[in-house]
Amino acid sequence: MPDVRERTPGRSGQAGPAWWSTGVRMLQFNWSREELDHLDVDQLVMVTQRAGADTVVVNGGGIYAWYPTDVSYHYADSQARELDPLGRCVEACKAAGIRVVPRIDFSRNAAGALDDHPDWFARDAEGRVHSFQGTASTCPSSPYRNTEYAELVLREIATRYDIAGFHLNAGGFRNYCYCVHCQAAFAAAHDAAIPAVRDWDDLSWLRFVEWRKHAVRVHIDFLHSVIRSLGSELVFTGELMGPGRPAQLSAMCPRALSHSFSTLLTTTGEAVPRPLADRSPWWVGMSAKCVRGYRSDVQPLMNLKASMREEGWPRVAVEPAEYRFQIWQAVANGAGLKLPVLGALDPADEHTLPAIAAGYAAVAVRDPAGPPRRPVADVALVWPLATASLYGRDDAEGRAWSHFYGAYEGLVRAHVPFAVLDEQGLVEEDLSQYGALVLPNVAVLSAEQRGALERFVAAGGGLVTSFETGRYDSDDPRKPGPFLDALLGVHRGHSLPVDGGTGYGRVEDHALTSGLGIEFVPQRGEVVDSTPAAGTAVAVTFAESRDLGGSSERYEPPLHTDRALLTTRTFGAGRVVHFAGVAHRLYWTHPHETSADLIAAALRWARADARCLQTNAAPSVEITLESSADTLAVHFVNANRPGDAVATGSGVEVVLDRRRLRSPVSTAGRLSASTVSGGPVTVTVVPDTSEIRLCLPRIAEFETVRLRADGAT
Ligand SMILES: [Zn+2]
Repeated sequence: MPDVRERTPGRSGQAGPAWWSTGVRMLQFNWSREELDHLDVDQLVMVTQRAGADTVVVNGGGIYAWYPTDVSYHYADSQARELDPLGRCVEACKAAGIRVVPRIDFSRNAAGALDDHPDWFARDAEGRVHSFQGTASTCPSSPYRNTEYAELVLREIATRYDIAGFHLNAGGFRNYCYCVHCQAAFAAAHDAAIPAVRDWDDLSWLRFVEWRKHAVRVHIDFLHSVIRSLGSELVFTGELMGPGRPAQLSAMCPRALSHSFSTLLTTTGEAVPRPLADRSPWWVGMSAKCVRGYRSDVQPLMNLKASMREEGWPRVAVEPAEYRFQIWQAVANGAGLKLPVLGALDPADEHTLPAIAAGYAAVAVRDPAGPPRRPVADVALVWPLATASLYGRDDAEGRAWSHFYGAYEGLVRAHVPFAVLDEQGLVEEDLSQYGALVLPNVAVLSAEQRGALERFVAAGGGLVTSFETGRYDSDDPRKPGPFLDALLGVHRGHSLPVDGGTGYGRVEDHALTSGLGIEFVPQRGEVVDSTPAAGTAVAVTFAESRDLGGSSERYEPPLHTDRALLTTRTFGAGRVVHFAGVAHRLYWTHPHETSADLIAAALRWARADARCLQTNAAPSVEITLESSADTLAVHFVNANRPGDAVATGSGVEVVLDRRRLRSPVSTAGRLSASTVSGGPVTVTVVPDTSEIRLCLPRIAEFETVRLRADGAT
């Protein structure tokens, strides 16, 4: 094996944060093989400089080699051998001070290796080879993706070219695999054969689902160890599943892989199912928030293949205003950017290049040298990562994710600064930094996670849960149990569909609902039959729609029942609110304002009205907070289309409670403020209170107000 070649001076062997820890601006060029003979690397450099990117991702190898390879079964066109597009790109970029990260993909083989190496390929339960787009799929557990092929390709590229790392495409499974390597590894782990049939009531199937995440991690960790051996300055990224992406197939689980890559990258666009992309404007920020919780040492990367929502192959053809809106969410939620253009630029790229440039500029401003900014959050929303896998069955979208989407939208709309963590985050994170936790039908929890919830509430935290949260134990999530009922203050029985699919919640006399000014709230879907325990109060009860026989047109109020829909209790020094129905999912599927108001009121009650941020901004504006050593950044992302900029008579006002910010500005004697767009902003530190008041005349698409502590008291 040849030695690792000497790399560009100044990039290797340096102490301090890795270059990818903050401020990453990656531009990806997707070359097609038809473009090989007219790839213009000088134009590539020029476009990269125009966009303000500092790193490019270009085709490297795996399925096809984009250089004259010597690795067996690594398919290279004659043009790739003659022209060496990867090598020419690396030389041109090096001269311009731009990093090059080759894209690699070992998910298939295009060079006919099947006859010689049948064990490299993924198989179904009957032993047939899985294929994708006409090419045989390989298995992450096979030697192909590890020592016998992938390692050779990585070593060949890194030893020949002065690159800055690798980006792995399609790193996980493409389907359930029954190849000899998976069979052997599963048997070694569980002393059993892989179940032939997908049966969610079969414990060995559930074990297989979890084992696949482990198998992918073993594979990715191997690739990372090879890459690290080739140079400590090499980045390693790969596409994780984001919220809503089917976990069962790829098994690229962000929790399992949280330390397997240099930084966590999620793809949005095609990765997000149509209903989410169509209905929620907030899916980019959601993806960033979900992975941001895993690492404080590096910022996440958002891969915005937005156009793939509509097309089969990357083409940045969304409207620039929509693309900018997605970019602003990534910036507001602490992510770096990896944005794609075509290989040989065409008019579609020219169309969106200004939006891409604006995004990189915002990242550069947000991230001066130093560690990543950390989010400032008053509330943590738990995303149902394990729940989607173990309780979601074949409908993770309906049973798990949709509850999360509704809760997410409700928090954005209510301008609550919040972080996202998964179930295991309840154990691994310091929960005392949050005033409240929101668990939207997070059905599967471990005993340890339930214990963490109890301690959090007993110590004074607020808790908002819904539906079957915590009813299933992660050791055997097939049947519900009484788990968590004691903390929630209800005895939960069967899950019942609401008669006729619709009904209402009757608002009872309770402090939680006192400010709502409504008698009934919409209620649809399912309700868990819940009996309040002693000390539990009922804030909303179920009211059944009357059957008027189809002949009467007169109004009759819904029939009152005793079934509890929303209960409250105190537990130790904390407060618990529980929705027996699918309140968060209902807000997602039927975004009625009264549903949002009730969800917001539940959180306020759980927090005993404590809030770190209040504002008169419209619900269509997302507000996030980020802290660094001496500044607090307040980001505003406006979901309205340009021209609909939010403006009220007196402007947009934000009141921050500095005691709850956990930021350097909490103790600063004086504050100065600046905005990215340069618009005027007034800041008032209200004497004798903990309030900081910001006032902006308007919020266009994106705004950042930066508060700097000029001197600590
Ligand atoms: Zn396999």
